[in-house]
Amino acid sequence: MVVCRNIAEVREYVKREKSDNHKIGFVPTMGALHDGHLSLVKNAIGKADCVVMSIFVNKIQFNDKKDFEKYPRIFDEDFKKAEEAGVDMVFLPDDEMMYKNHKTYVDVEYLTETLCGKYREGHFRGVYTVVAKLFNIVTPDIAFFGQKDIQQALTIEKMVFDLNMTVEIEICPIIRDLDGLALSSRNVHLSADERKRALSIVGSFEIVEEMIIRGELSANSLKKEVEGQIGASSPKKIDYISIVDYNDLHEVDDLSNKAVLAVAVYYGDTRLIDNMIIDIAGEKKCVY
Ligand code: AMP
Repeated sequence: MVVCRNIAEVREYVKREKSDNHKIGFVPTMGALHDGHLSLVKNAIGKADCVVMSIFVNKIQFNDKKDFEKYPRIFDEDFKKAEEAGVDMVFLPDDEMMYKNHKTYVDVEYLTETLCGKYREGHFRGVYTVVAKLFNIVTPDIAFFGQKDIQQALTIEKMVFDLNMTVEIEICPIIRDLDGLALSSRNVHLSADERKRALSIVGSFEIVEEMIIRGELSANSLKKEVEGQIGASSPKKIDYISIVDYNDLHEVDDLSNKAVLAVAVYYGDTRLIDNMIIDIAGEKKCVY
């Protein structure tokens, strides 16, 4: 596995791969790799000839300075995991290279008025800016994002469409731990008790799935159930429990169109997000 620390090296590497007619698959991450990240790599291997991963803790997407400072940075472990998973090249830029005298930012309107966009001021602007920069540096044919961060994935698709970028976006399933908790680099901050209580999130999804299969289509009733389940686990704070339209990410009253049930909940100081895609016309009505 090749490790590139500067942009010129990446361009040189990608140029060589493309001259061999290799399709470039790209997995952007902030490191502290877990099986969720590695599942994106697996998907990339299936669809591309050369897999590039970036590892960059992107300061400008952190609206909370403490969260940025305590974000796990374990690059040597990451390199090992990436190599074992089959990554061909890792791009590891630093702040100076990405943001020295930086004045240009990318934003996606309307779709960021809800969910995390509403609660994390400036977060997505930082995400789109770094992703646009990384796309311009790596010039991938196809880039892989997790359903875990559904608003991020869907709005990056929108950015790509609106800005006429040529990269294809693939959204990959949420990978969960054996107990059902969605894998996240932030899970290491949970105490054993917080982690146990956090299982109310996936527990509430299971109940909602049963309700939907039984024919419940009222967003309000489903939301109330989730609020009850998660509320009973004594979270420190709930940012949102929302059911939004899959395409415009605004709240809906019923489930006649494809929708997303999304939650953001704090246990201790750790903010967890999780979601379920609901498509009552689909073969599988609930995907989480
Ligand atoms: P991050 O390092 O948190 O920025 O995540 C990098 C990519 O991994 C994003 O596209 C995430 O959506 C994806 N990801 C994070 N956690 C999971 C998970 N549990 N399952 C699938 N993909 C994930």
